Amino acid sequence: MSFNNIGLSADILRAVSEQGYNEPTPIQRQAIPVVLKGKDILAGAQTGTGKTAAFTLPLLELIHEHAQGKGNRPIRALVITPTRELAAQVGESVSVYGKHLPLRSAVIFGGVKINAQIDKLRHGVDILIATPGRLLDHAHQRTVDLSKIEILVLDEADRMLDMGFIHDIRKVMKLLPKDRQTLLFSATYSNEIKQLANDLLNEPELIEVARRNTAAEKVAQVVYPVDKNRKRELLSHMIGANNWQQVLVFTRTKHGANRLAQQLEKDGLTAAAIHGNKSQGARTRALAAFKSRDVRVLVATDIAARGLDIDQLPHVINFELPNVPEDYVHRIGRTGRAGNEGEAISLVCVDELKLLKDIEKLLKREIRKEVIPGYEVDPSIKAESIQNGRKGRNGRQANNFKSSGSSDEHKTRSKPNKRKQAVKRKSKETQESLYKTSNKGVSKQQRSKTINKKPAKPNRVAALFGG
Ligand code: AMP
Repeated sequence: MSFNNIGLSADILRAVSEQGYNEPTPIQRQAIPVVLKGKDILAGAQTGTGKTAAFTLPLLELIHEHAQGKGNRPIRALVITPTRELAAQVGESVSVYGKHLPLRSAVIFGGVKINAQIDKLRHGVDILIATPGRLLDHAHQRTVDLSKIEILVLDEADRMLDMGFIHDIRKVMKLLPKDRQTLLFSATYSNEIKQLANDLLNEPELIEVARRNTAAEKVAQVVYPVDKNRKRELLSHMIGANNWQQVLVFTRTKHGANRLAQQLEKDGLTAAAIHGNKSQGARTRALAAFKSRDVRVLVATDIAARGLDIDQLPHVINFELPNVPEDYVHRIGRTGRAGNEGEAISLVCVDELKLLKDIEKLLKREIRKEVIPGYEVDPSIKAESIQNGRKGRNGRQANNFKSSGSSDEHKTRSKPNKRKQAVKRKSKETQESLYKTSNKGVSKQQRSKTINKKPAKPNRVAALFGG
């Protein structure tokens, strides 16, 4: 099927072809005709599938078809997104796909001054893209009127719920006309999403393009077991040795993102951090520098990275696994977008084995494991709690992984002389039982030699990159 017979008018098709799109993606093929018929949809589509155009194109078509006369210009379509970045990106899509149409759109989100937004709204807008909090601010100040909304889109609804926006969303719903078309997009289906869909949608058509809770299929996934204190060294090594120029790296915490970006800079790699504590300006600048390749590594937390649309991003690295398995799916959706090949790498230390198991359970399959020679794990290192991303006192709290049947390995003492013996005895079984890795090409001797290797000092790594 080409775009030509999907029901869109010439001005929209022209914009689509100017983007270089030859044919609709599966979600577009399924969603566009249904939306054009005026039906509600519940769409299960991960980011990277072309879902933004799947709702933006028919939305533009419908709003344009039923264009209102000049003068009074009420807001007729509302797109709600969980994050500022996603709002900005959807806004950009609306502008790009609607560039040959006489429609006006505006994007409103927090973290920036409200006055310019008020001005824009006052001048009349057909399509509004907003994050929930700022939208409610406008509603309270009566600077936005949502009473004429015909089409509502909830984009990445699962993430909105994860971020605690459910009350805000319900408040916004009260401001909208009951008689409207609603499109709900979500990468995952939890009971909460089903409940929300029940409450908001009217006989929706179900559209699902990727299997439920599965990771984007084009993305090659691999886990590299590595000790926590050697992750940064391995990361720098991988980026440098492979000459990767655009790498998105995920950490669990904002502080961790800052620290890692600084460390990578010391290793000679240009890096920037993007997270919720950064000002909107700093986030936008970091993203722009990353897109233009002035910055080679973007270190992000889950929330900040949500919805980032960076074309053909080849490498996503989980420096730390997320606490919520669904976030793994969202993270790796940053690569392999719109049919491109992508690679998602996870650096996993002993603390994270439970998280890894949860992710594999969600994916319903194991992720391939590979040991990088020289970075084998030290089996004497005990698992530490990673709640809130913090270490326990002296690293002595209970072993997290007892229930996973791997507790023996963690009972290894930490005294250096005994540790050496334990390493020899246990290195093979530990590599295999803890991480079930393939370790081709690394001999037993090599492994026990490298297993106690101290982390490289920054200057050693810096030398690798000429830093
Ligand atoms: P999304 O899932 O909406 O974030 O879109 C992911 C990427 O796919 C974006 O970079 C879009 O520009 C791109 N894209 C959307 N539709 C198509 C299409 N029909 N053909 C090729 N690329 C597309």
